[in-house]
Amino acid sequence: MQLTFWGVRGSIAVPGPDTVLFGGNTTCLEIRCGESGPVVLDAGTGIRGLGLALARSMPVDCALFLSHTHWDHIQGLPFFTPLFVPGNTLSIHGTFDPVAMKDLRSVLDAQMDYAYFPVRSAELKAEIRCESLAEGQSVTHGEARITPFLVNHTVITFGYKVQCRGKSVFFTGDHEQWTNIYEHDEPYFDEFQTIIEEKQAELVDFLRGVDVLVADGQYTREEYPAKAGWGHSSMDLCVDLALSAGIERLYITHHEPTRGDEAMSAVLDELRDRRGGAGVDIDLAREGVTVDV
Ligand SMILES: [Zn+2]
Ligand SMILES: [Zn+2]
Repeated sequence: MQLTFWGVRGSIAVPGPDTVLFGGNTTCLEIRCGESGPVVLDAGTGIRGLGLALARSMPVDCALFLSHTHWDHIQGLPFFTPLFVPGNTLSIHGTFDPVAMKDLRSVLDAQMDYAYFPVRSAELKAEIRCESLAEGQSVTHGEARITPFLVNHTVITFGYKVQCRGKSVFFTGDHEQWTNIYEHDEPYFDEFQTIIEEKQAELVDFLRGVDVLVADGQYTREEYPAKAGWGHSSMDLCVDLALSAGIERLYITHHEPTRGDEAMSAVLDELRDRRGGAGVDIDLAREGVTVDV
């Protein structure tokens, strides 16, 4: 199984001289296994580069899994070249929005309204299927099996486990560790604490045996307290999650857009000095890098 990072930035794309080493595009991962078309996780601006690469050998049969539909995870989709070519197939999977009562297709179509984009989704030439998934509902694409898990973000969000030929990767999507929203002396504190501890244990169980964890760690531990509740974890929480599930390889992603290459390298060095060697190999995801799983 091969994993390629096409976009590793959180919140907004930040091209420029400060993001050459780690990359400036927003979230997109490609997983390859066997001869079938790619499994793609999220469609941030990084998916544009993937589309250009795929267009070199059409027809493309691609399965896309969206963690959620915040802009930084879907904004590259209208620029995904294979969508414009007849004969290509794209199946899109994701969550259902229970607040707006919108299914996946209507959320994605809205992004291609004339107010925002010059081509309507109805004019795309590829065969496109959309499916809202329930938690735990596995999908098969070629030899790969993809299973969603509800994580903790400001909207309904899936993390995905991708399994193929005895190997597996888990991508958290945007995720912040569950924390108690009540004060210790408030009546619901104990009940809520039980719920979040069960959910955390469920996630750790789901992750046991995974070979590679790709986790949202937008903030350093120093930055995190001021950003708690925004739906993203600290890098230290990613390390904690990998260690508690016995995962030996961790790629932290959804990088803070204001953190340039020099600062990224310094943060990685500090994290490895402090947390490395404890049983998990820690790295920051870099755009354009392919890793063997
Ligand atoms: Zn995001
Ligand atoms: Zn988000």
